[in-house]
Amino acid sequence: MAWYQDLDNQIKEQLPGLDYRWDEPLAGHISFRVGGAAKRMAFPQSGEALTALLALAEACRARTIVLGNGTNVLFPDEGIDALVISTGKMCDMALRKGNQLYAEAGVTLARVAVFAQQNGLSGLAFAHGIPGSVGGAVCMNAGAYGGEMKDVLAGAYVLAGGETRYMTVEELSLRYRHSYLTDHPEAVVLGAVFDLREGDKDEIRREMDELMARRKASQPLEFPSAGSTFKRPAGHFAGALIQEAGLKGLTVGGAQVSEKHAGFVINRGGATAADILALIEQVQQAVYRSSGVMLEPEVRIYR
Ligand SMILES: Cc1cc2nc3c(=O)[nH]c(=O)nc-3n(C[C@H](O)[C@H](O)[C@H](O)COP(=O)(O)OP(=O)(O)OC[C@H]3O[C@@H](n4cnc5c(N)ncnc54)[C@H](O)[C@@H]3O)c2cc1C
Repeated sequence: MAWYQDLDNQIKEQLPGLDYRWDEPLAGHISFRVGGAAKRMAFPQSGEALTALLALAEACRARTIVLGNGTNVLFPDEGIDALVISTGKMCDMALRKGNQLYAEAGVTLARVAVFAQQNGLSGLAFAHGIPGSVGGAVCMNAGAYGGEMKDVLAGAYVLAGGETRYMTVEELSLRYRHSYLTDHPEAVVLGAVFDLREGDKDEIRREMDELMARRKASQPLEFPSAGSTFKRPAGHFAGALIQEAGLKGLTVGGAQVSEKHAGFVINRGGATAADILALIEQVQQAVYRSSGVMLEPEVRIYR
């Protein structure tokens, strides 16, 4: 029996209320708006449901991929023979003592930042414009405008091997676009605790608005993308290297190096995942030829 038939049966018996879909098109769940279908996709509403689901998936030998808000991933056009688990319905959030804030993995950073601001807690203004979820942001140590997750996290609840444990920010080993989670793809963030400071609501709002305005002025937010396509290489900026190599506007099918920000590959309309991958490779080769630097994708590419 194929893994998914086994899993279908198990879920019917053991998790009958789960939002569980067959052949779910992934383009609607990722910010690039490309890619084929997930053989199976599930949307658990709690950490407990996610834990139970992963146990069933393991028993059925399913390949599993956890998806947050889908703003840093690319899936192939032919789809993926896996169970994709979205955290999009895990959206609890609460204040804790001592200026701490707890948010479940699926809460968007925009919501966390606004919730913190409304409660006079500062530290998350930098995260307001990053379109990811809490789980994805911890995994990627998301950052912008001088702030990063590492600076504001107390820790996270991480599920691995059927057990959930609280990992401190030190244990999470957050570095530039890297974490314990990138090294352990089987581990899942169920929720995170932020350590914030008291602040003035109006001032925090102003900071959030100012950073959003800077983002809108410099980034092609009107087109689907996954943000910066490449990691920042030591001593350089990816966008500057791409621009210096004369690659702004380079196009493969519907994928293009943004004219507005060379660090972004955008979907101009009708792009396929294959277009985006081919363009990424062309950019890597051209930048290597012109500068000797091999760019590494920041986007998590699944095959
Ligand atoms: C317009 C635009 C602007 C952007 N600007 C920025 C920016 O300024 N700074 C920045 O850092 N990034 C930026 N990004 C990229 C992206 O938003 C971040 O990397 C974000 O942290 C990804 O979160 P996500 O929930 O969308 O993760 P996804 O794309 O869903 O997943 C990314 C990775 O995280 C893993 N993951 C997701 N959830 C969990 C979980 N609960 N447990 C374990 N692993 C998990 C996935 O398996 C995957 O490997 C931008 C993207 C876009 C589209």
